[in-house]
Amino acid sequence: MNIVLFGPPGAGKGTQSKLLIEKYGLTHLSTGDIFRYNIKNETELGTLAKTYMDKGELVPDHITIKMLEAEVEKNAGSSGFIFDGFPRTIKQAEALDNFLNAKGSQIHSMLALVVPETELKNRLKERAITSGRADDANPTVIQNRIDVYNNETLPVKNYYQTDGKYIEVVGLGGIQEVFSRLCAEVDALVPA
Ligand code: AMP
Repeated sequence: MNIVLFGPPGAGKGTQSKLLIEKYGLTHLSTGDIFRYNIKNETELGTLAKTYMDKGELVPDHITIKMLEAEVEKNAGSSGFIFDGFPRTIKQAEALDNFLNAKGSQIHSMLALVVPETELKNRLKERAITSGRADDANPTVIQNRIDVYNNETLPVKNYYQTDGKYIEVVGLGGIQEVFSRLCAEVDALVPA
């Protein structure tokens, strides 16, 4: 079972991914986390990604796609993936489809967390206190990330909608409340 967890910055994708992988025995692949790991370890990829991330811009498709595919390969025995923060462009969505199709696999569903913009900004401001993320601490960068999401990432919704794979989930409320809503959708995908 392969699921894309979709939503703007601050929607709760990371938090909910962690709960979902535990319950369903899936592998969590967060492109943001992988980039941050590379930045921390001062790799060439990290140095390159940082120049984009610090501004709230997307890391170029060819770099992100190559990295994501390598991570899937590393976890070849996995029973499925939660893709968190990927795909963020139509090009990435197409690449992911081609890559999975070549393995006789596919994305089963895109679960989208819907949260109003004012709430996103409040959450990111709060997260900045503990995350230590430079891109959470700067209001200009936060606005840019939300704008990039609306302009470049939102079209990915239509991509999965056309395939009948797009499901919206209300992302407001407590963590467990949102998790229950997501589980109801996942359970409907795979009958127990
Ligand atoms: P996130 O942790 O998902 O909020 O991502 C943090 C930052 O990493 C984003 O603002 C982008 O600069 C970069 N990033 C993460 N995932 C992607 C992606 N799929 N494509 C391009 N850039 C990405």
